[in-house]
Amino acid sequence: MADWTRRGFVGSLWGIAGATSLAGQQRSNTAHEMRTGQGSIKITDLRCAIIGRNPVIRIVTDQGISGYGQAESSKAYLKPMVLFYKNYILGEDPTNVERVMLKIRRLGAFKPWGSAVSAIEIALWDIAGQAAGVPVYKLLGGKVRDRVRIYNGGVRFPMNGQTPQDYAENMVKMKEAKEGFTLIKQAVGFHNPAMMRAAPNGWYDEPRTGAPHADRGLLTERGLEHIIACVEAMKKVLGKDIGLALDCGPGWTVKDAITFARALEPLHITWLEDLITGDYTPYPNADLFREVTQSTSIPIHTGEQIYLRENFKDLIEKQAVNIIGPDPVDVGGIAELKWIAEYADFHGIQIAPHGIFDGLIGLAAHVQMAATLPQNYIAFEYPLGQPEWWCEIVDGLPDPIVKRGFIDVWDRPGLGVTFNVQSAKSHLSDEDRHFFD
Ligand SMILES: [Mg+2]
Repeated sequence: MADWTRRGFVGSLWGIAGATSLAGQQRSNTAHEMRTGQGSIKITDLRCAIIGRNPVIRIVTDQGISGYGQAESSKAYLKPMVLFYKNYILGEDPTNVERVMLKIRRLGAFKPWGSAVSAIEIALWDIAGQAAGVPVYKLLGGKVRDRVRIYNGGVRFPMNGQTPQDYAENMVKMKEAKEGFTLIKQAVGFHNPAMMRAAPNGWYDEPRTGAPHADRGLLTERGLEHIIACVEAMKKVLGKDIGLALDCGPGWTVKDAITFARALEPLHITWLEDLITGDYTPYPNADLFREVTQSTSIPIHTGEQIYLRENFKDLIEKQAVNIIGPDPVDVGGIAELKWIAEYADFHGIQIAPHGIFDGLIGLAAHVQMAATLPQNYIAFEYPLGQPEWWCEIVDGLPDPIVKRGFIDVWDRPGLGVTFNVQSAKSHLSDEDRHFFD
């Protein structure tokens, strides 16, 4: 039985930092004093502002260093949740990341209620990196790769209709996108309500209204054939050089999932995501996933909504899926995700982190983390800066960000990105006007 205690792989923060030197990097006297034990750093404030649609978290310290984190653009309601944790972390040394996390980690839950804790964890690493004068990847164990592969889940073009031909035409545009994606993920099945409604009587239930992805049920032959025809048309466009992954559910029956997967086997689909559970389900249901996984050669994927390593235990130890997809800003942070990735690797399971709505600070966290993940890493889901002016308020990202489907890992301290405060301030609401002060 595995040891699921929290003994860290991260090791001694200062031990690693002290052994690491980046040529030409200026370190502040404050950082030097802290490394040599002559000074200390304390958290003096925790703030949250909604910039565009993304909640942005700022941890302020008494040493002039601030750390930033960011949650999904779909979570503008998160601000009171973030501020809830303030009294738990005030006065703590933010460079003792794990000691701070022990205070708040228990106070989170499955998506979306793990986001605030996760974004705080990322902001702590940002501070720890800046204080040590090293990029966060050094503190997570160092680089395994100099560039990280991303996959496209968010660069999208308007659809003209819901026929296989419409999906093929749309895939041509994604294939030609300037990012040069090597792997593209497309929503199908119950994860794509428009596709499902295009085939009359596609499943044995009434279409649901309200919250997205709420449909589920046994597919009709007509429904199943429509989904398969759309997938075949898209794969024909991408050919052998660009991978196609499918975000499918949740809501499939085990038998439909197996039939679908087997039908796609000749197409070498990269993975099938969230067939059984996933979005909007606060449990993984490992036993049902295992039945699907054992019945097909197509890799089966889940995990974007899961909070903490303990909730991956069944999926990993039961070999219930082939690929897991935690989101660092939902699972508990980047060190949490790295631990899960290592444990998955130990069990022959791959990792492709979710991230579509994590924004540009989230992107920086993904890059720092992905640089350190073991060789079971496939790619993370590329988050866009939305609205587009986000690219003008964040400094430090490569230009262009993505080259031929990869992002080069940068070497500046912390997350390595900073706010252009003058530009960013113009996008603050009146309520948040003192966020950068
Ligand atoms: Mg998904």
